[in-house]
Amino acid sequence: MKLILASNNAHKLVEIRAILGSEFDEILSMKEAGIVHETVEDGSTFLENAEKKAREIMEISGCCALADDSGLCVEALGGAPGIYSARYAGEHGDDKANNRKLLRELEGVDDRRAHFACAMVLVRPDGSVVRAEGRMDGVIAFEESGENGFGYDPLFYLPERGCTNAQLSPEEKNAISHRAKALHALVKKLREE
Ligand code: IMP
Repeated sequence: MKLILASNNAHKLVEIRAILGSEFDEILSMKEAGIVHETVEDGSTFLENAEKKAREIMEISGCCALADDSGLCVEALGGAPGIYSARYAGEHGDDKANNRKLLRELEGVDDRRAHFACAMVLVRPDGSVVRAEGRMDGVIAFEESGENGFGYDPLFYLPERGCTNAQLSPEEKNAISHRAKALHALVKKLREE
């Protein structure tokens, strides 16, 4: 069976192939499948957004489609930035501005607990849907550290590791990330079917 990933992100493709590779004959990015499409992410949860993306790609391609949606949820901010993580400071994907805004919002706040959340949704041509979620817990640091990763990684501190996500190697992060956990949960559900 062929799987189309509702993304062109090279890092996600590598991570997803490594974990889901044995479950499908072929895993293609949208680009590799010749699909140009942008989903309007107007759901109110990570799961809703992921399902909408996967369903649209399944309908366009007629193949199984997998999509993810993820973000940072900060306890003291009532779960913000959440589904708005990529555009917290206004412009989509401006990581520096997003991190500056997060530090501003948490000025004087002692409770720095936060988690990354990821929803993974597989939609098949017969309409069946498999949903899985994963999370990674940490605290928001007072300043950025580390050069690896992306997004909020330089501020996401892992107390048990004594470093931020951005100070982990890609392999170390991929082993414990919210995305990896959601993918493993998805594989478990597929095998249990
Ligand atoms: P996406 O849904 O995976 O594209 O993620 C949306 C946004 O959430 C990104 O633009 C980042 O701001 C944030 N985010 C998601 N996953 C991570 C992560 O692993 N590290 C840092 N930021 C992340």
